[in-house]
Amino acid sequence: MTYQPIIGIEIHVQLKTASKMFCGCKNYPFGAKKPNFYTCPVCLGLPGALPVPNKKAIEWTIALGLALKCQINSLSKFDRKHYFYPDLPKGYQISQYDSPFCFNGKVTTSQGEVSIRRIHLEEDTGKLIHASVNGKKVTLIDFNRSGVPLIEIVSEPQIHSPAQAKECAKKIFQIIRYLNLSDADMEKGQLRLEANVSLRPKNRQDLPNYKVELKNINSFRFLEKAIETEIKRQTEILLQGKTPVQETRGYNAEKNLTYPQRSKEEAADYRYFPEPDIPPIRISSQWLESIKNSLPLDYETLLASWEKSYRVEKHLVSLLFDTHHQAAWLEKLFQKAKRLGIEVRRLVNFLANKKIKVNLFAHEEPQKILDLFHEQTQTISIEVEELERAIDQVIKHNPQAVADFRKGKKNVLNFLLGQTLKLLGKKVDPKQIIKLINEKIS
Ligand code: ZN
Ligand code: MN
Repeated sequence: MTYQPIIGIEIHVQLKTASKMFCGCKNYPFGAKKPNFYTCPVCLGLPGALPVPNKKAIEWTIALGLALKCQINSLSKFDRKHYFYPDLPKGYQISQYDSPFCFNGKVTTSQGEVSIRRIHLEEDTGKLIHASVNGKKVTLIDFNRSGVPLIEIVSEPQIHSPAQAKECAKKIFQIIRYLNLSDADMEKGQLRLEANVSLRPKNRQDLPNYKVELKNINSFRFLEKAIETEIKRQTEILLQGKTPVQETRGYNAEKNLTYPQRSKEEAADYRYFPEPDIPPIRISSQWLESIKNSLPLDYETLLASWEKSYRVEKHLVSLLFDTHHQAAWLEKLFQKAKRLGIEVRRLVNFLANKKIKVNLFAHEEPQKILDLFHEQTQTISIEVEELERAIDQVIKHNPQAVADFRKGKKNVLNFLLGQTLKLLGKKVDPKQIIKLINEKIS
C-alpha cells in the first residue's frame, strides 16, 4: 500500500459513582423505575440551579490518569461547551477545555506505544427516545442519564493499523474495569468508541490536511472493521487524485460501511468559556498522593508477576477477572492451589476453558473451586495433546477396526474408545474421546 493510516481514538466512559456529576441525584440510569425518575433542577438544567462537582468522580478521573501514566494538572477547571440539542436543556455541556485533569499518558500495545493526549471529565446528556404514541411519531426525553459523570479519553493520532486501534481501546477498557470505575457495558452505552482516520503517503511525516471522525461504533470488533472499511474508502478517493472530505461518519455494522453524518461546514463552534459557577480545582500534592496510595497494583505489573510466579498465560488469566477485587481473590486461590501442589497454570487453563469468570464464584471460598477442579479433572479435564497422542496410537495399532469404521461399521467407535481409555488409564469424558476419534478417522 502506498498510504499509511493515521488513527486516533476517543473513548467516553460513564463512571459508576453513587451520585451524578454536579448534583445529588442517584447515578442509576439503567435501574430507574421510570423515565425522569432521578432528576432535580441541576440535571434538568433549570435556570438558577447551581452545579457542585462530585469529588469522587474527580478522584477516579485522576486515578485512571495515573494508571495510564498521565501527568496531572495541579490546577484544573471546568468549561462550558455550547451546542443546541434537545437532550441538553442548558444549551451547554459542562466539560473541560484547556486544563483537563490528566494529559500526556500512554498505552503500550504489541505494535508500539500510543500516547494519550488528555483525559477530562464532563457530564452525560439526557436520552432521546423515538417512539410512537397514539399512532403519532414522537421524540421523548429521559433525563435519568443527564449529569452522569463521563470521562473522555483522547489518544494522539499515533495508531497505525485497525488492529492496533482495537488493542489500544481494549487495554484502556481493561484498566477502567480493573480500577472498578465503570462497568463499561457497551450495549448500555456505558462505554462509547470513536475513531478519527486519515491517510498519508508512506514517504511523508506530516499529518494529512483532513480527517474523518467515525461514530456509532459499539464493539471493539466493529471499531477494527469500521476503520478497515474507512481506510479502503479513503484509499480509493486518494488514488483518484482527490482528497476525502473532512467530516463525521457513522458506521453501519450490518452493511459494514461508513456513511456521512456531518461535514466540516456544519461543524460546531462550541464557544468554550470557563464555567463561572464552579471555581477552579487545585489538586494539591497531598490529595494526589492519597489518590496514588488508593490505586491497586498496576494491571500490567500484576499480569507479569503472575506469569513469572505461576507460569500462567497472560491472555488466559486476564479472561478470569475484571476488577482488582476479583484479582485479589484469584491471588488467594493461586496461593492456596500452590500450597496444595496444584499446578496453577493447569488450574487457569481449566477455568478459562470452562469460561468460568471470577465474578461467578468470587463469593465462594477458594477451596470450593479447587474441589470442582479436582472433581472435574479426574473425569474430563485432560490436556488435548495427551489425549490426541493416545488416540493416534490406538488408530495406528488397529488398522482393521479403522477400515471397518470407514466401511460403515459405526459401532467400531466403542471398541476404539475402550482401547483409548485403557491406554490412558484415566477416567476421561467418553464424549470428548469419541468426538476426537471421529474427527481423526472420518
Ligand atoms: Zn440531579
Ligand atoms: Mn465528550
